[in-house]
Amino acid sequence: MLMINFVKEFLIENPLCVCSEEILSVKKKLLTSDDTVVLKQATSKVVYRISQEQYFMQFVLVVPEEYPIKQVKIELEDHNFPEILKVNFISQATEIARKCVQPPIKKKPKDPPFEPQPSVLPVVKFLVESVKKFPVMCCPLCKERVLPQNPSEPVTDKRRRMEKLYCGHLFHFICLYKYIKTPPFTGKICPDCGNAIYHDKFKLSPQLMEARWAHKQARQRELDEVVDFLE
Ligand SMILES: [Zn+2]
Ligand SMILES: [Zn+2]
Repeated sequence: MLMINFVKEFLIENPLCVCSEEILSVKKKLLTSDDTVVLKQATSKVVYRISQEQYFMQFVLVVPEEYPIKQVKIELEDHNFPEILKVNFISQATEIARKCVQPPIKKKPKDPPFEPQPSVLPVVKFLVESVKKFPVMCCPLCKERVLPQNPSEPVTDKRRRMEKLYCGHLFHFICLYKYIKTPPFTGKICPDCGNAIYHDKFKLSPQLMEARWAHKQARQRELDEVVDFLE
């Protein structure tokens, strides 16, 4: 009885011990000397500050009492990433946490019965990897970096602005635009990962793009002929 009381008290005072192995594993495998982790036992929170060059993100994981039956909650405290990437990071991390504790809507017949899984490690892994990779990610087409070296100097040239595809790779707008608007118009893939390119901004059908391309080429031929004539 004394032992049970001791365990109960210990759990009340150290609520984070339910995920201590995950926290340690993150520290050992994912963090570098630039990153910090602070445990706040009193509020059952873990605060991470992850950096890559001049970029950083500080987020808090709130570990619920019912962990791991219930998922961790992710709160963003501070960051200097472009807004669109920040929204992406947090929504994807939240989705990863949800999938740990909620069975899939469509169950495959051969799947074993669903059991909630601890969500701290998968969530932090995703966020740390994102913070580490995006600042140094190069455009698959021109091989130059997409995010500016200095986060407080946003890209002013609209043609060089960032575009994120569904596969997760970053491109310069102009590189992607030229790539999509030149033939062949079907079966375009991301040169980095081989996934089909899909982007809301470029919804033209292959037929329409083909027609536009032919039209542009014809115009160019006419112009070339005029030049030939004048020379
Ligand atoms: Zn590029
Ligand atoms: Zn890709």
